[in-house]
Amino acid sequence: MVKLPINILLVDDERDFVEILSLRLTDAGHRVRTAFSGQEALSVLAETEGDALPEIDVIVLDIKMPGMDGIETLKQIKAKCPVVEVILLTGHGAVDTAIKGLKSGAFDYLLKPADFDELTTKMEAARKQKDAHAERLRAAEARALMRRSGGLFKPD
Ligand SMILES: [Mg+2]
Repeated sequence: MVKLPINILLVDDERDFVEILSLRLTDAGHRVRTAFSGQEALSVLAETEGDALPEIDVIVLDIKMPGMDGIETLKQIKAKCPVVEVILLTGHGAVDTAIKGLKSGAFDYLLKPADFDELTTKMEAARKQKDAHAERLRAAEARALMRRSGGLFKPD
């Protein structure tokens, strides 16, 4: 089975970690963008936003970063692009923060150091959820359009 590439945004202040993980994910056939702070992540997301949906499927987001932390970044991501799914990365001592993140709309979290296969599995699941959500949104928008047009035409 051919796996569809996932459009990923990796966000972590540890540059080596981001660069190594980015190489591995690219080798596995995924499309990876990187950011080293919450602020940079929001800029990348704003740049890649299409007219209807963001181009990024899944954001892997470190919780502990200087400046804007992962939880604040997550809240701003979800406010701007509710459809994009976020997987949080957290240290062993910070599971409570990860739970706070789940309550703020994160798809899931992983403990650092993240296992590559586990990360990939969670990213696949997150992408599936994002696609299903995006599809429901498109269908709802098509229905709304049809209603506004008085049922004169049917969307394809
Ligand atoms: Mg960090």
